[in-house]
Parts: sequence; C-alpha cells; structure tokens
Amino acid sequence: MKTAVVWFRNDLRLQSNPALQAAISAGYRVLAVYIDERTDLRASASSWWNHYALAELAQSIESIGGQLALYQGESKLVLQRVIDDHGISAVFWNRRYTPVEMAQDTALKTVLKDQGIAVSSFNGSLLLEPWTLLNKSGKPYRVFTPYWRACVEKGLPIPAGDSLEVINWASVNDSLTLGQLNMLSEIGWDSEFGDHWKPSREHALQEFQSFIDVPIENYDADRDRPDRAGTTRLSPFLRSGMIGVGELIAILEDPKRLKQESVEQAHGRRKLVAELGWREFSTYLLYHFPHCLDQPMQANFNHFPWKKDQDLLNAWQRGKTGYPIIDAGMMELWHTGWMHNRVRMIVASFLVKHLMQPWQEGADWFMQTLVDADIASNTQGWQWTAGCGADASPFFRVFNPVGQGKKFDPNGEYVRRWLPQLKKVPKKFIHEPWLMDQRMQQASSCNIDEHYPAPIVDLKEGRERALDAWQSIRNTS
Ligand SMILES: Cc1cc2nc3c(=O)[nH]c(=O)nc-3n(C[C@H](O)[C@H](O)[C@H](O)COP(=O)(O)OP(=O)(O)OC[C@H]3O[C@@H](n4cnc5c(N)ncnc54)[C@H](O)[C@@H]3O)c2cc1C
Repeated sequence: MKTAVVWFRNDLRLQSNPALQAAISAGYRVLAVYIDERTDLRASASSWWNHYALAELAQSIESIGGQLALYQGESKLVLQRVIDDHGISAVFWNRRYTPVEMAQDTALKTVLKDQGIAVSSFNGSLLLEPWTLLNKSGKPYRVFTPYWRACVEKGLPIPAGDSLEVINWASVNDSLTLGQLNMLSEIGWDSEFGDHWKPSREHALQEFQSFIDVPIENYDADRDRPDRAGTTRLSPFLRSGMIGVGELIAILEDPKRLKQESVEQAHGRRKLVAELGWREFSTYLLYHFPHCLDQPMQANFNHFPWKKDQDLLNAWQRGKTGYPIIDAGMMELWHTGWMHNRVRMIVASFLVKHLMQPWQEGADWFMQTLVDADIASNTQGWQWTAGCGADASPFFRVFNPVGQGKKFDPNGEYVRRWLPQLKKVPKKFIHEPWLMDQRMQQASSCNIDEHYPAPIVDLKEGRERALDAWQSIRNTS
C-alpha cells in the first residue's frame, strides 16, 4: 500500500475534509502532517488558538489509530524531507487563497510533480472558490450584494458525508511535540484566553445548535450589541478550519429545520448565512485584487496625508484613548483575543479617522492579537471601515464613539465589563466620563487623568481634520 501525506493547514478537522477524504478514497495509507510555517516565531493570539486546535486534531487522529506528525520550517523544505525520509508517493491538501500562499503552493506542486509525486488539491474552506464567479462583463464583483446574489443563485454547496472508519494510518518517529512548536506566549500574555474560549469542535457545534434555536431570532439586531451574546463566536473555528463553512450551511439549511422554523428564525438564519457570505467575499476580493493585502483598493488613498504618531497608536493599542467604547474594545481584544464586530468597526474608524493613523497599523495589530486573525477578512474589514476598500463605507461616515456607545451599549454594561475603573460611573456619563464634575468623579472612584484618561483627541476637531484630509485626495487617482 502506498503512503500519502495529507497536509493539514487551515483545515484542522477530520470531518468534512475533502483532502483527507480523497486520500482515503484513493486507497492510500495516510500520514497526517502539520507544518508550522511561521517566519516570526513569536506567539500570536492565533498561534495560541492553533496550539489547542492541533492538540484536539492530534487527539482525534490518535483515537482512531493514527498520528499527527508535527514539523516546523519552510514548507517546501520540510515536505521534501518528509517525502524523501518516509517514501511518500502522493500529497493531498486543501487550497489556500492568499497571494503568497497560492504562489507557494503552485510552485510546490510543480516541483513535486516533476519528481513523480502525485499532488491533489481541494476546496476545504470556502463555499465557492473565487474564480468560479464573475459578473456579466466577465470581471470580478466589487459590490457585496450582487456578488452574494450570484453565489446564492449558483447554489451554496452542502458537503458530502464522510467515511472515517477505514483509515490506514502511517506514523513517523521524527515528529516534534506540540510544545516544541512554541505556539503559546512565553511571558503568558495569552494566559487569560482559556477563560473565554473552549477550542473544542464538538462543544462549538453544540453551542451553535443552541444558538440557532433561540438567539438566532434576534440575530439581526443583537449582532450589533456588544453587551449581549448575540453572535456565534465561531470565527476562530472557521479561521483554523476546526469547523468547515459548508458544515454550518448544512446545519442552517437542513430541510428538516427549514420546515419547522419561525419567521423570526428564518430572518436570523438568512442574515447569518449572508455574514458567512462576507467571509467568502473577503477571500474573493483578495484573490482578484491581491495588491489589497497592504494597499488601498481605491488608489486615491495612496495619497492620504496620514499623521503617523507612535504615542497615539500606543494609546489606542493599550485602551487608553479616554473614549470608553474604544478602550473597552481594546481591552476585550487584549484579554480574550476577540472583539465584537460592531466594536471592531468603531475602534477602526477612530484610529483611521479621528487619529489619522494608517489603517495598515491597525490591521497589523489585529493580526497579532485576534484569535480569528484572517488576512482576507481583516484587510477587508479595515479597508471597509477606512473607506478605501471595495464596497466600502464612505469615508465621510465617521463613527462617533460616544454616539455609537450610547446606541449599541445603552446601559454601559459592555464598557463596565472591560473597564472596571468605570464600574461606578453613572449610566448618564458612562460613554463620556470626562463630563462628570469633580464631586461625581470622586463619588464614582473615577478621577479623570488619575483612574481613567481624558480624551486624547477632540471628536469635532478630529472629524473635521479627517474630512479635510479626505477632501484633499478625493479627486486624485
Ligand atoms: C476592522 C475589522 C477587522 C476584522 N478582522 C477579522 C478577522 O481577522 N477575522 C475574521 O474572521 N473576521 C474579521 N472581521 C469580521 C468580523 O468582525 C468577525 O468575523 C466577527 O466579529 C466574528 O464574530 P462571530 O463569529 O461571532 O460572528 P457572527 O456574527 O456569528 O458571524 C458568523 C461568521 O460570519 C463571518 N463574518 C461575520 N461578519 C463578517 C465580516 N464583516 N467579514 C467577514 N466575515 C464575517 C465570520 O466567519 C463569523 O464567524 C473584521 C471586521 C472588522 C470591522
């Protein structure tokens, strides 16, 4: 029996994994491989997540008689060594879609095929791959609504069933241990993440079932409320591939469920499916417009007069801007590795518009600190908020952090959760504590500049400065 490597990357699951299924169906003995390809070996929030995702995957494989072989280094070198050392005849993987990864995978495929190694790749992380959809003029879509309509018309695929019972596994004795990959922070800045996450596939799927029974009825409204548990929190599971997007669609669109669902549930379900569509659209845009990785989609933003300022960036990163909804969001991010979507938009808008810092700085910080850090969704989220992306929110829509706080966290529960120094601040002032007089500051144990900073920028001035800057570039190209 010949042996094939199944190379796990952003698909850390056994179920509904087309590359694994194909290797099994082709009759290979399977060597399950994961290569830690990080060039910067400092731990990030997503490497924390991957540590536990790999632990679970390794355990699932061991429970059915196999081994997950772990390696570290440049994938083409590592894979070549594994192939040579272990007599591998074929390699199976699920495709990745960022420009750099695609170029790497294509080059690797050529090298391996030249050596007579069979290489097969599959779609393991998207509903529809980016090249399968173009508009009537044969060009890529730039606007979400027609893009998503076209996806739905084409049909969102439901994955076929698995057969995991009959796998012949191969094992090796040169695997690293998970600890040797050093994916957790040495200084323990990620030590609280475990209080907020259970990186377990089964647990997440159970939670998802509960979510689509009741909370989904209010998903459309509650998804904007950071004070409520109104969203699925599945993003790190999707990013790591512990759960495949097709598996979620299969649950959401299960005909038995559809027959019984209420009008409210149907509304929430459609909204949730469309949010999964935004994930697809982000990958789609990055595939068709690869320069968007670090450059604005709208070229005039290349001339934007950013005012780079390390102190302002630090204050934003550390949650010390003096605007409670911003600081609470940055604290949520720091302590949990995740931030609510509405708050992501507010903090991003504030950094880019009120503080005039380049969106790339914020995107970099998110990539280091988010457990769901996904280059396509992150770039798209930042460009959308900065107003320089495809189908972006217009630049002149400047989120006011006080107004947004009052609207989406009306009682200040979210702010108090992440900023304990504001616990006793009355509701009236929770989103603008600097308006409290001295007596009230003392009564709330929240003296401005002592327990909580004064605002680092005046909102009106910041807004006007940003709009002036935008006027200066709007008609350039
Ligand atoms: C500035 C900024 C940066 C972002 N960076 C990332 C990132 O690095 N990784 C990431 O997964 N998402 C990112 N998002 C999108 C969104 O904030 C998260 O996907 C969402 O908050 C995850 O929470 P959830 O799983 O509870 O979402 P739910 O509301 O339960 O949505 C279900 C799933 O749909 C997808 N989704 C929902 N909204 C979006 C969106 N706007 N764009 C793309 N996919 C979406 C996610 O996969 C999510 O898990 C970013 C948004 C902004 C504004």
